[in-house]
Amino acid sequence: MPQEISILEHTATLAKYLDLDQRGKIMAEYVWIDGSGEMRSKCRTLSKKVTSLSELPEWNFDGSSTMQAPGDNSDIYLRPCAFYPDPFRKGDNIIVLTECWNNDGTPNKFNHRHECAKLMTAHEDEEVWFGLEQEYTLLDPVDGYIYGWPKGGFPAPQGPYYCGVGTGKVYARDVIEAHYRACLHSGITISGINAEVMPSQWEFQVGPCTGISMGDELWMARYLLNRVAEEFGVKVTFHPKPLKGDWNGAGCHTNVSTKSMRQPGGMADIEAAIEKLSKRHKEHIALYGADNDQRLTGRHETASMENFSYGVANRGASVRIPRSVQAEGYGYFEDRRPASNIDPYLVTGIMVETILGSIPDADMTKEYQREIS
Ligand code: ADP
Ligand code: MN
Ligand code: MN
Ligand code: MN
Repeated sequence: MPQEISILEHTATLAKYLDLDQRGKIMAEYVWIDGSGEMRSKCRTLSKKVTSLSELPEWNFDGSSTMQAPGDNSDIYLRPCAFYPDPFRKGDNIIVLTECWNNDGTPNKFNHRHECAKLMTAHEDEEVWFGLEQEYTLLDPVDGYIYGWPKGGFPAPQGPYYCGVGTGKVYARDVIEAHYRACLHSGITISGINAEVMPSQWEFQVGPCTGISMGDELWMARYLLNRVAEEFGVKVTFHPKPLKGDWNGAGCHTNVSTKSMRQPGGMADIEAAIEKLSKRHKEHIALYGADNDQRLTGRHETASMENFSYGVANRGASVRIPRSVQAEGYGYFEDRRPASNIDPYLVTGIMVETILGSIPDADMTKEYQREIS
């Protein structure tokens, strides 16, 4: 392990090249999810400014280098599904979110978007909205320890850090600020940010977003965070329990509403949805992130993973109805079970499947059984 990572990110020097004329060409950075649930991207030149999805060509890559395909049948196809202004290159340059498809015409192992989109389309009339609260933790890039913590030791116990202000109470605000701006530039529906209970842990919220755009926007916001962190020389982890002991884990609370829940009297629909969720607790937990058992202990503002529970304003329940929603009699509910490392397509997909009804040609519970082919 090198004593000092040589971070060759000369951002200030790069700045002068970013002004160079591109002579009408644009750069399109294609992003996808690899065989371990991490993000990858590569770039291509396009001949003119892109104004609609249909102008973006399908592309491919070597899936044997990303744990997505065997070496003897390595082509994986990238199908564009959304594109966003590129906050790093600016101008007309774009970042393209893609789905991965195998050579035989089946969705690739970690392409959970395809099934999710079928459910979202089938229930389009319900206008389901999601809001995801993405928690994450910053790490030192050299030793992987929590960013800014005393080496071999710990900061003072939790208490002053949540929404903390001032030196020693908040870490790496510059990184978070840069990411927030990048999201706004790219048109991500980022609704806010806050420092979390454990020092060097943060949260951003994306939403409300309708249907499939929730998963798209959350993945893109994560991509932007990873890119920003590269320049600051900080590592991002989405692990739900980055440090054992009396330190909070990281979740991805999932706020949900349908059209009828958002109208006066909607509380009855919220209660009916929670009743349905209570009957599929195990199926949901299976899709709510790896290592979530380390986080859902019943401590640190979580409910135990074993049982389903719900309550008004209860941060120790699986599902919470916000106090203001109960007071007004309509609004939304919050599923607090999902871990920070979820695939949002799995979580929003099974949510719709459970509360609005399954459809014949999609089954979210089978999504994890897919292997590379
Ligand atoms: P918390 O109080 O749990 O920390 P946050 O304010 O962090 O909640 O996040 C709440 C999220 O819920 C935001 O992303 C917000 O946009 C979203 N949200 C608000 N209203 C609705 C709604 N009716 N349906 C779905 N999501 C919603
Ligand atoms: Mn929150
Ligand atoms: Mn939080
Ligand atoms: Mn929350």
